[in-house]
Amino acid sequence: MKMILFFGAPGVGKGTQAKIVSSKLNLPHISTGDILREAITKKSWLGIKAKETMNRGELVPDDIMTHLIDDVLKDPKCKKGFILDGYPRSVHQAEVLQTIVDVISDDPLIVISLVADVDIIVDRLSQRRMCKACGNIVNLNFLKNSLKCPSCGSIDTFIKRKDDEEDVIKNRLEIFEKTTSPVLHYYKEHDNIYEIDATLPVNEITKKILEIVT
Ligand SMILES: [Zn+2]
Repeated sequence: MKMILFFGAPGVGKGTQAKIVSSKLNLPHISTGDILREAITKKSWLGIKAKETMNRGELVPDDIMTHLIDDVLKDPKCKKGFILDGYPRSVHQAEVLQTIVDVISDDPLIVISLVADVDIIVDRLSQRRMCKACGNIVNLNFLKNSLKCPSCGSIDTFIKRKDDEEDVIKNRLEIFEKTTSPVLHYYKEHDNIYEIDATLPVNEITKKILEIVT
């Protein structure tokens, strides 16, 4: 089984890489963001609780995430492996994940850590917009002053999500730093963590990741 975990601050580009590697290796991409959004859409009690904390820029409580992740990783669609993105975010979650992994396979987790400077991340995220017509996420830095949505062609339909406001970003990065540094140490004690410079071009990062995992 190939169990790959993407680690890195919000905005570092791990979602993008997880999607690319997922399609190249034909493994399901398990994004906690997607799992949470689905729970929120369904308005399950887990979803409602999660939404309240996310709106404050805080992390979703461990017990909620544990339930959601356990269900997903034990699903038959993950029998050849999976790519996990955005989890674990605490040492407790890392320990819980390890017990789940031990049940489903003898293979080790491969941890890919994407690293970038805080200023670069804040700049990237504060330029992020969502097209309110189609939901596409774009970065104004790459639109070259055009306000046309590259996905649906609508003009001037971009809005800034609450998640991408600068104060929320800074709060998220602070929380990330505080709560996830211990997770990084946890994985550094195991010998299967690989660090990659997240400021490299997207295709170079993908190449490095594929060399590690294949
Ligand atoms: Zn659009």
